[in-house]
Amino acid sequence: MSFENIIGQETAKKILQGFLKRKIFNRTFLFYGPQGIGKFTTALVFSQGINCLNLNDNNPCFNCRACLLIGNLKHPDLLVIDGSINANIKIEDSFKVHDFARTLPLEGKFKIVIIRDAHHFTTEAANNLLKILEDLPEYLTVILISSHPHLLLSTILSRAVKVQFFSLSQEQIELFLLGNYEITEGRAHLLSGLSLGSLGKAIDYISGDSFINMRKSVIDYLYFLKNNRLVDAFTNLGIQDKDSREESLKKLEILSLLVRDLLMYSAGYSHLMINIDLERDIKEICEGLDFEVIQECLSFIVSSIKSTTDYNVNPTLFWDKITIKIKDYIYA
Ligand SMILES: [Zn+2]
Repeated sequence: MSFENIIGQETAKKILQGFLKRKIFNRTFLFYGPQGIGKFTTALVFSQGINCLNLNDNNPCFNCRACLLIGNLKHPDLLVIDGSINANIKIEDSFKVHDFARTLPLEGKFKIVIIRDAHHFTTEAANNLLKILEDLPEYLTVILISSHPHLLLSTILSRAVKVQFFSLSQEQIELFLLGNYEITEGRAHLLSGLSLGSLGKAIDYISGDSFINMRKSVIDYLYFLKNNRLVDAFTNLGIQDKDSREESLKKLEILSLLVRDLLMYSAGYSHLMINIDLERDIKEICEGLDFEVIQECLSFIVSSIKSTTDYNVNPTLFWDKITIKIKDYIYA
């Protein structure tokens, strides 16, 4: 993986290569933008660039000891904190950063801290991290990664060099899938559309059939709801309190894509549908439903998804609300 292999993100790459060229690393960076578009990969390549023993034209060599160890997350001067685990970065994690930052690099030129999903800091942990950022040791680089930067403390935001990452185009994702996986053009087109600009999602969809099964259960859920069979809808969906946050949120996102397609179909734009292989189901569910009803459902679902991420609420809780709301809209 090199800067060249990272798809899109030309502006971000230029900015970071500029820092490599000028050898300015004693900074806090914020890589922000939607999920699954290469922020973490870019952070690793940038870290390799900082410590590479044979930097060439502002590109790391990917062959030296530093590049290899960083690529495998094994470099002693690299610390990765992953906020996506349990959607939480606790005070203990910020202590880890303090411990790490206290000593000089062991073998690299710089020590680097990468914090994924940095918006998941508890306030206490964020304030503790701030102490390091306010007085960044001269051998330390901090890279914060976030898809929801507005949730970070303003005092942290104001200290960071902001590097924006953008959603990829459907074409970029489609080409990547065709070039890297055994996949038909039709499926690449479908999955790249469903991924809404996130390569990470497209790759997630491709591996195994769990996505297709999940989508099937959400389609059945909609059929049951339309027929006012609430219990069946729930049972079929298989959402339980013990479900992982991630799985529950995935199903919510699938629901929003399907309802979005219902809206497209109902407005006469079936050619703009994303779930192009499900036109028959979409048509059937649409029958007898008003455009306004679908629109209201969609905006409720979208705002629910936003709340789960903004307020770190368990998405499972939203399924009850959404189900009742959709039922109310349909049978108003
Ligand atoms: Zn190297």
